Amino acid sequence: MKKILASLVACTGLLVSAQSTAADIELKLAHTWPKGFPIFGTSVDDYATMVSEMSDGRIEIQVDSRNKHKSAFGIFDFVKNGQYDIGQSASYYYGGKEPDALFFTTMPFGMTALEQYAWFHEGGGLELANKVFAKHNIEVMTGGNTTMQMGGWFRKEINSVDDLKGLKMRIPGFGGKVMAGVGAVPTNIPPGELYQALERGTIDALEWVGPSLDLRMGFHKIAPFYYTGWHEPSTELMYFFNKKKMDSLPQWARSVLLNAAKLTGFNMTVQSQHESAENWASIKAEYPNVVVKNFPAEVIEALRASNDALIESERARSPLAAEIVDSQASYLTKVRRWTEIGDWSYLANVAKTQ
Ligand code: CA
Repeated sequence: MKKILASLVACTGLLVSAQSTAADIELKLAHTWPKGFPIFGTSVDDYATMVSEMSDGRIEIQVDSRNKHKSAFGIFDFVKNGQYDIGQSASYYYGGKEPDALFFTTMPFGMTALEQYAWFHEGGGLELANKVFAKHNIEVMTGGNTTMQMGGWFRKEINSVDDLKGLKMRIPGFGGKVMAGVGAVPTNIPPGELYQALERGTIDALEWVGPSLDLRMGFHKIAPFYYTGWHEPSTELMYFFNKKKMDSLPQWARSVLLNAAKLTGFNMTVQSQHESAENWASIKAEYPNVVVKNFPAEVIEALRASNDALIESERARSPLAAEIVDSQASYLTKVRRWTEIGDWSYLANVAKTQ
């Protein structure tokens, strides 16, 4: 039908209104989450709307959730190969495809969300990420932060490193490796089966996100100890763009796509903070037996030693890995001094007296 219409327009020179309202640039986007998944998935729907509005309808994005494309962790390949023009996911899911992708989500004992955003956008982090992903025909932009993730839900208290030995815990990625280094047994279980696994004792503990997304999972009903975070202090989602496609677009379109991603990321971060505050209030009101705990100092020290050894082996893997690790370490050292005399000092010395 379109073809017939087009030839009719070509033959007669008639302007058909349907043609003048069609987008100049039509793009396809795939993300990792189920359709309508709160915060992570809905922010991508917001991104598509923002791009359409910012471009006055000249760019339209079709958003496919994993219900449609059936491959939650296929985003890297989809975008690299051009099956999709854009993807949204977390960089660290693709360590198997590109080992250096590991560094661009969050690192145990690493930067907080605001510190890491400063590294990405002012401290050379985004340039390093693009250096890594350009090898795969991918350009990237930050896509939104969960803010501090909690250390997880535990059925029993952790009082010593010995309590971690043999502990079966759902904790994926680098944090899982760090846990394994102190004797825990990390497992990865699909999100839909987590509650049951914890309830039946298939696992002893799990980490998910924080109150923003934990509340709806119901873990607080069966595991009363909610430990504070150490392994994902600033989990950043990321937009992936097919580089060849991006390079073919006019500058205004590139600008809209990248800046809308950055702004969507800001909106998602703010929403995460808000939802965590709201949901934590609900958990405390409905389940007053839930206790927030800090891991004992000896546990944190053991985890840190395990993390340091793993980072050192990552650093030795390649010159680029070393460049990224060193960039993060030196930026953290600098920015943390400011956080300490700024936010931390305020929270420790001023706010707690209110
Ligand atoms: Ca997590």
